Amino acid sequence: MPELEPGKLDVSLSLYELQKKIYPRAVTGWFATWRWTLVWFTQLLFYGLCWLPWNGRQAVLFDLAERKFYIFGLIFWPQDVFFLALLLIISAYSLFLFTALGGRLFCGYACPQTVYTEIFLWIEEKIEGSRAARMKLDQQPFSTRKLVLKTAKHGVWIAVAMWTGFTFVGYFTPIKSLAQSVLSLSLGPWETFWILFYGLATYGNAGYLREQVCKYMCPYARFQSVMFDPDTLVVTYDAERGEPRGSRSRQSDYRAQGKGACVDCGICVQVCPTGIDIRDGLQYECIGCSACIDACDQVMDKMEYPRGLIRYSTEQAIRQHWGRKEILAHLLRPRTVIYGAILALIIGATAYGIAARLPLKVDVIRDRNSLSREVEGGLIENLFRLQIMNVSEIPQRYVVGVTGLDGIDIAAERVVEIPAVSARTVLMPVRVPPEAGKKGSHRIYFDVKALGDAKIAVHEKASFLMP
Ligand code: SF4
Ligand code: SF4
Repeated sequence: MPELEPGKLDVSLSLYELQKKIYPRAVTGWFATWRWTLVWFTQLLFYGLCWLPWNGRQAVLFDLAERKFYIFGLIFWPQDVFFLALLLIISAYSLFLFTALGGRLFCGYACPQTVYTEIFLWIEEKIEGSRAARMKLDQQPFSTRKLVLKTAKHGVWIAVAMWTGFTFVGYFTPIKSLAQSVLSLSLGPWETFWILFYGLATYGNAGYLREQVCKYMCPYARFQSVMFDPDTLVVTYDAERGEPRGSRSRQSDYRAQGKGACVDCGICVQVCPTGIDIRDGLQYECIGCSACIDACDQVMDKMEYPRGLIRYSTEQAIRQHWGRKEILAHLLRPRTVIYGAILALIIGATAYGIAARLPLKVDVIRDRNSLSREVEGGLIENLFRLQIMNVSEIPQRYVVGVTGLDGIDIAAERVVEIPAVSARTVLMPVRVPPEAGKKGSHRIYFDVKALGDAKIAVHEKASFLMP
């Protein structure tokens, strides 16, 4: 680096903030138990669901090659993209509602970044030891012990990450055949790419980037503040009760010493996965994991002070010294009621739409190569292509009829057999006598009905061209 000339100002700036590695201290307590319960729940669901069989197939499979999505007994086709849009709207409104009610509940308990960071940290602690041991190990010069511990940690991390990548791809390609391809070393290029991509993303995000993802990469962290209001529940330090902070012996009367309840032990900072000090107030880096609540409650127990110096509370509640009853009463407010009502409405409409869905879909397309033509007997013929989709899990036979013009008829086999969860395109020549209509386009209707179940029927319109 060049020497700075005396009297000259050094205006060089780093484009990147230097990050100090964070060594979160392990914590136990009520919220930690909830966090781990959710880790178990979400991970058992994620790693297990793709292996669950259903009607001879994978229970949950987003089969991109076949363009069919299976979710237990429900089968979605590309034509059902409407439900995907509804699902996205439901997710957005759920996020609005839960953020308005409880701040970053999703980030702290269910976000994959939090969940995998928690798992990776647990592995790190099991192999390298406590927070102090990990810090010491990182400062030590290279040694055989250090090499063994680091290799073991990264080995287990990579194994978990690759299994995660494999599981992720197993939701898009049948997982049993994917497993066979892996074992026989015959994976396709796309499957290999996505397993490695998702696996390496998990390894990098949960092993290295950790809180950086929440701080700098996650857009939710940036816009969540607009969903907060003074009645939103957030992890809060009660400064009025805690300050002035300072160390003291357990037996001493801290009030007589002019001190607050905070003993300034710094444990709330040591357990924080994003390395912030909640005593500085609400910060966008706070993911609402509540680790600092558990940690501080333990300190309060040791000091024999009441718990809750750091607790879930609201801006208003802290200001106005509200208790639990008033806080709960303010959960219902115009914003949350409106979000809740819209959410209930969309969920209801989606559930109704799915329940009322017919297991039959029909698309009618006129054959572009042959418009109207005259055939034997002077009849006028139009050719139509009917794509009939049997969305049910049993084979079906359908009868096709046509109405709309005098003497209209189909000059082909009317009964069509379609295997379960399949589609067939059939060519339907439709004929009418020449006196059935004037020159131009006429509205006609195709009726496709399942043989043996009159309720499964589709009435689809089309246009017939008279020359
Ligand atoms: S854990 Fe509690 S007592 Fe200790 S520094 Fe944090 S707020 Fe103060
Ligand atoms: S301040 Fe507390 S709640 Fe926020 S991220 Fe840190 S430990 Fe979690």
